Amino acid sequence: GTGRKFELENVNTTCSFCSLGCTLTVRKKDDKIVFVTSPADSPNEGNLCVKGRYGWPYVYSQDRLEKPMIRKDGALKEVEWDEALGFVAENLKRIKSNSGGNSLAALGSERLTNEEAYVFNRFARTVLETPHIDHAAGFGYRPLVDGLGKSLGYPASTNPIRDIRNANVILLLGSDLTETHPIAKNEVILASGRHRAQLVVVDSIRTKLTDRPGLHLPVAPGSEYLIANAMLKSIVDNELFDKAAVDMKAEGLGELIASLAEYTPEKVSKTTGVSVDLIREAAKAYAEAPTATIILTAGLNRPGNNVEAATAAVNLALITGRIGKPACGVYVFGEKANAQGAIDMGLTPDLLPGFASVTDESASAKLEALWKASIPKEPGFGANEIFSKASLGEIKGIYIAGENPIDTYPDRVMVEEALKKVDFLVVQDMFLSNTARMAHVVLPAASFAEKTGTYTSAERLVQPIHPVVDSTIGKTDLEILTAVSALMGKPMDYAGPAEVMAEISQAVAAYGGISYERLAGGGLPWPCVDPDDPGKGILYEGGFPGGKAKFMPAAPVRELNVNQLPMYLIPGVVKFHSGSFSTWSPSLLEVCPEAQAEMSWKDIRALGINEGDKVKISDASGASIQAVAKLSRRALDGVVIVPLHFPTVKLNMLTRWDDAAVKVKVEKA
Ligand code: SF4
Repeated sequence: GTGRKFELENVNTTCSFCSLGCTLTVRKKDDKIVFVTSPADSPNEGNLCVKGRYGWPYVYSQDRLEKPMIRKDGALKEVEWDEALGFVAENLKRIKSNSGGNSLAALGSERLTNEEAYVFNRFARTVLETPHIDHAAGFGYRPLVDGLGKSLGYPASTNPIRDIRNANVILLLGSDLTETHPIAKNEVILASGRHRAQLVVVDSIRTKLTDRPGLHLPVAPGSEYLIANAMLKSIVDNELFDKAAVDMKAEGLGELIASLAEYTPEKVSKTTGVSVDLIREAAKAYAEAPTATIILTAGLNRPGNNVEAATAAVNLALITGRIGKPACGVYVFGEKANAQGAIDMGLTPDLLPGFASVTDESASAKLEALWKASIPKEPGFGANEIFSKASLGEIKGIYIAGENPIDTYPDRVMVEEALKKVDFLVVQDMFLSNTARMAHVVLPAASFAEKTGTYTSAERLVQPIHPVVDSTIGKTDLEILTAVSALMGKPMDYAGPAEVMAEISQAVAAYGGISYERLAGGGLPWPCVDPDDPGKGILYEGGFPGGKAKFMPAAPVRELNVNQLPMYLIPGVVKFHSGSFSTWSPSLLEVCPEAQAEMSWKDIRALGINEGDKVKISDASGASIQAVAKLSRRALDGVVIVPLHFPTVKLNMLTRWDDAAVKVKVEKA
């Protein structure tokens, strides 16, 4: 007799929830996951948040799709794989030959592995022959990392996550890490607790981090960039930087300084309500600390002003010499597991795998040689345009892999109408999401626990995921895509994900030295250019790819709101953010079963309601949602926090593509 312990089998893999890429040890018995831990020698040092530790039961959900479905006489009916795949290929071919590849669009996901994202890209560009390809990180995360890429060279965070704990000042721009990225929050708490790092938190809500010693600059959502630019202006005016040193490393300082004219602390104080002294104090703290870091997060469905915030962050780091050094730099944390990898693999309308523009002739020639097909040379439509063109009937077919736009994209009504209008909608997913319900064909996809591949974390760490259960429900996205390609007369000959990675290492210079053999020893940070390259934890230590970095001028101040409604709506997060699959985990729903509208005591009183009352939240167009009022100290006066992607509340009824902030009216329902 051996003890129970010895019957457990351990498999290491990577967390499928947020972009921090924590290592999981899945402990299983009789091919069933029993519980999940994390090895102490992992990058996350054995720590996991509630999602990583307890979120796995979605893998076994009763609601997992097992058989493909085809819409027949208005209803989805289960069919065999052959019939479903044949039907997909036939319809896509029909639309392509009648209206051209340009009438098709492809939406991938930051949940796809790198290998799947890469193959999905090839599928869209060479099989569907469309340039219209995008995914949710394309409009949430991408604008933030683009801000880094344009100035520095790579659209990605500059430093390892474990570096945060050593920073003396941590500037958080609209980032409630406690809710979105708990393991990174631990780093901030470590820095704050161990060496009294000063936290400078620019946020529209009160968080666990604003409770720590430091400065809290409360601003309206979407105004974070105003504060960051006012800090820059204050640093410039008070000469809190070394001009000669900056000139050696970066160009464009003169243009930057000129562009900051309208960002004086006085003016920004007027618009934001944050005191001039507080702005100056924040600037001084950031500029004078021995080391300082900046954190931004994506995924709050609020694309507006992200570019401006990221640009300001990079300018702050550059002007104070905080790039290419330990415990410094700028971080952007994406929402889902492979937000960074999806950008690296070019799931975008304008960039190819490896960040080259589609208009870059040598980059597309290289890819055409690998793919043995020609690819579109003009940028395609992003997600927003894909839906607006579909509403007009110009996009006739949409292929969606792993995404649920109806619940997770801005402007629900617009997305829904567009999807109603298309001739042919294919959705491959683990669950019958609201988007899948509208599809003509639904293809059941395997979960992360059932496949091999890699995710690239927010610190550019390319890490393996392994099948942790033998049984596979559905097919992997890779299997589905290669099967449809073959049926459409364009076979792709990949024997499996390892071969796809071998091709990625040829197509993407930063992945040049990455292979499955090497990943068996653990993750590798890109750029990792050849088989002996250990990769770079800190970017730009030896300089910038373009020689010098570039300051990007600050954009003119944007008008924040068009309506006069009294409250700001903040898309909040309750312990887990991508409800698109975390709400399929019963254990997570137990933590928080009902969507709440968090408000301050003052606002609840002013509305003449009690905690627990149903409230109606409406926007200027008259669209509304309902939730249960909850007294919360997170909510500042004038702010209502409602969770994103919650099954019982459709928050994206009230969000629009270009909004920096949403203003609403709250009343008793
Ligand atoms: Fe998973 Fe992110 Fe939580 Fe780590 S912090 S366990 S990667 S959800």
